[in-house]
Amino acid sequence: MKQFAGVIVDVRAEAVNRVFQYGIPAPYQNQIRIGHRVLVPFGRRKIEGYVVELSSKLEVEQAKLKDLIELLDPEPLIHPSLVELALWMEKTYVGLLSEALQYMLPPAFRYGRERVGAKTAQVVTLLVPEPKLRKNAKAQARVIEILRRKPQILAADLVTQAATSHQTLRALEEQGIIALQEMTLERKVEWDTISDPKHRLTWEQEQAVAAIQDERKASRRPVLLHGVTGSGKTEVYLQIIAEVLKEGKQAIVMVPEIALTPQTLNRFAARFGQRVSVLHSGLSLGERFDQWWKIYRGDVDVVIGARSAVFAPTQNLGLIVLDEEHEGTYKQEEGSIRYQTRDVAIKRCELVGGQVVLGSATPALESYHQALQKRFRLVELTKRVEARPLPQVRVVDMREEFEKGNRSMFSTDLKAALEELVGSGNQAIILLNRRGFSRFVLCRECGEVLECPNCQVSLTYHQEDARLHCHYCLHRQTLPTKCPKCASRFLRQFGVGTEQVEEVLAREYPELKTLRLDADTTRRKGAYRTILGKFAKKEAQVLVGTQMVAKGFDFPDVTLVGVLSADLALNFPDIRSSERTFQLLTQVAGRSGRGEKKGQVIIQSYDPAHFSIQAAQNHDYHDFYRKEIGFRRQLGYPPFQELVRLLCSGPQVATKEATEGIHAYLLTQGFPQKDILGPQEAPIGRIQGRYRWQILLRSGKVPLELLRNIPPLPAEVQLTIDIDPLYML
Ligand code: ADP
Ligand code: ZN
Ligand code: ZN
Repeated sequence: MKQFAGVIVDVRAEAVNRVFQYGIPAPYQNQIRIGHRVLVPFGRRKIEGYVVELSSKLEVEQAKLKDLIELLDPEPLIHPSLVELALWMEKTYVGLLSEALQYMLPPAFRYGRERVGAKTAQVVTLLVPEPKLRKNAKAQARVIEILRRKPQILAADLVTQAATSHQTLRALEEQGIIALQEMTLERKVEWDTISDPKHRLTWEQEQAVAAIQDERKASRRPVLLHGVTGSGKTEVYLQIIAEVLKEGKQAIVMVPEIALTPQTLNRFAARFGQRVSVLHSGLSLGERFDQWWKIYRGDVDVVIGARSAVFAPTQNLGLIVLDEEHEGTYKQEEGSIRYQTRDVAIKRCELVGGQVVLGSATPALESYHQALQKRFRLVELTKRVEARPLPQVRVVDMREEFEKGNRSMFSTDLKAALEELVGSGNQAIILLNRRGFSRFVLCRECGEVLECPNCQVSLTYHQEDARLHCHYCLHRQTLPTKCPKCASRFLRQFGVGTEQVEEVLAREYPELKTLRLDADTTRRKGAYRTILGKFAKKEAQVLVGTQMVAKGFDFPDVTLVGVLSADLALNFPDIRSSERTFQLLTQVAGRSGRGEKKGQVIIQSYDPAHFSIQAAQNHDYHDFYRKEIGFRRQLGYPPFQELVRLLCSGPQVATKEATEGIHAYLLTQGFPQKDILGPQEAPIGRIQGRYRWQILLRSGKVPLELLRNIPPLPAEVQLTIDIDPLYML
């Protein structure tokens, strides 16, 4: 039967956000499949598009139907299940179809721009092993000598090694002695290899592997692997993956931020060798291009990567692991489709019959709720491996310290612990979730706080360049000598950042060498690895940093973890501030005492009775969950009701008016006022010169059609629809 192709055109615009039907010319009738890239007529242009539907039913007027022009690749670029996933994403997150498809394409194909291709190089092959050369052809003789030892070699290398020029190679080629060929080279991605022997599983680990296998063979519910820090979750992943590979299927392992987890990466590489691929934003476009095609061709069994790896083009996917599944980096915060990787992974596996494993010591509240509802299978690892104890956690009340006259950033307990560290051969991690030197500058006469001219946020002083920085835009300025409001000279810096911690440590404990890990010290490519490598080699005893230091590191000599201010995350205007505080404290505490030595943790706080801090102190996830889920139920927040954030940004007046317009529209469409919060200014009212207003919808079920049909806004106002938002600043 004659077929018609439904095509999504590769144009990023609201106006073309639908499937267009095209005729299929006779020669292509039996060739075209879902996921094929095609060239189509569009207005007066020819543009690329992707086939997402094939149907024998004509849906446009016969006279209006145009034929597609050309089939661009022999094989479909996008696997049919990924086409389906893209359609699901557009529906679920109310975004652009073409944008959802972008995620499924090779890096260089995004929005039609082919900016990179395969890397090729000239390779030399020796054809005649014992050629007759002219007597004085010394350079030619040297070339042959090298080729006898290594019959195939890059032309460029050969020229260098033989200390000659390309002229020599061409002369040999003309005599038919060697062949010069263009070959495709893979841009290799390097990682450190370590030896990581397969462990004999503990009883709990064995139970976990069995439960996951059981779920894989039966109903394939997502498994939530809740295991305390150091309980050996990674070993469970490794053994499940081995099972998946035996069946000829592939696995995707997701980590929150790959640069932060070189150790995890190395363990996978050690176990599965060359058939491992790594996808992350730190790679060059060319490197990503090569990795993508390697996976597409089936030369890879295990893909490791950050958020976007969930779309890796594996053809026979058996498993997706989301390690540290609670991490905020799994939420896409850009573009029109603000997806949650966990949900995308679950949908993708549902489409292909794969298994999802979500792992964490501190599962997201939503995930644990799903597990208790039996929609996920819950598997718990309650003990650290080798019966290592969880570290002892002490919470210090900083109000009491102040009363006792201690004005230092370190409590008496932490000072004592640092002193003990000197000369002990042990290491410490100090967390302060604020970078820079001091947190803000305040005028002591009029109370003015120095703000960024583009954003509604206070400026942070950085000692490195002796300037004030905005952490939301690129603005930097010198520290003024007078208050911009009242001209007073009494400007003072308040609050402490990681730079200052490092300085005070150096002053008070000169014997302790420190390293700092935050967004400032890790700007250069590869800097994480260098810093962590130095710490692993014990070139420093103390690692100071922001929440980066709380990630899944495994340093056996770390016996002390200090948290300078547990309250910073608590005081955020966000429904998840308690949850984030608990997660951060538990995760960072988990870095202590992972080896044979016992670990301790000291948490400093001005609000030590807060349940998040108490639960972290007691390593009691369940207690935290019970309390927090109670608040969520009371307030009608997720997972009990859906939350949707509509954020407008742009010029001051137009943005406010647009938001009010959306509010009026929602009401006229019958959406109840009681389920609407706002319109109101966003917690940060301006970023990069754009004003920000928002509406929050909180309801049993937000009708997405309603959002899809919001009347067009003025061009200068941008609307972001965030379904199930994670951050609400
Ligand atoms: P988690 O991811 O749960 O924090 P890891 O998987 O990193 O824990 O394991 C912690 C440490 O214990 C690692 O050094 C790992 O090599 C080791 N380990 C894991 N499983 C076992 C086991 N069954 N026996 C001995 N050591 C193990
Ligand atoms: Zn002033
Ligand atoms: Zn700014």
